[in-house]
Amino acid sequence: MNRIIGYFKSLLLLELLGGLWLTLRYMYKPKYTMRYPEEHIPKSNRFRGLHALRRYPNGEERCIACKLCEAVCPALAITIDSAAREDGTRRTTRYDIDLFKCIFCGFCEESCPVDSIVETHVHEYHFEKRGENIVTKPQLLAIGDRFEAEIAAARAQDAAFR
Ligand code: SF4
Ligand code: SF4
Repeated sequence: MNRIIGYFKSLLLLELLGGLWLTLRYMYKPKYTMRYPEEHIPKSNRFRGLHALRRYPNGEERCIACKLCEAVCPALAITIDSAAREDGTRRTTRYDIDLFKCIFCGFCEESCPVDSIVETHVHEYHFEKRGENIVTKPQLLAIGDRFEAEIAAARAQDAAFR
């Protein structure tokens, strides 16, 4: 009996017509998909994307080379060297993050006592040559300078929960 029903279904193209009817019904309904990359879904202010090192408003880098982020990183993605400056303060001479190792857990930014290392909303980046996965201190500071307004706004929105 089932075989006879199946035979008539395929003869009358009922499944095809059912599929076309479904398409027609959804053609004029609101769309749930985005036209990426022209459109983006809203991101949380806690989104963990590309890293950045921040500066204070006077231009001084925030990082005090305490190495807490390096110690807490579960992927061993952060490498820091540091030295004392002439004024006695300590600053990093090297701050590398290997983005191939990073799992974007956010522990580095959680551990930082001066809100220096942060993860930005930037998730669209790529590498073209070997070694570009290692993001250096000048690159991290440049990312921080570029996105400081967004970073500061996201931190302000989340301040009550930190
Ligand atoms: S986000 Fe996590 S894995 Fe990536 S550098 Fe920070 S602590 Fe390491
Ligand atoms: S980024 Fe923050 S946690 Fe890491 S070394 Fe600098 S001050 Fe310390």
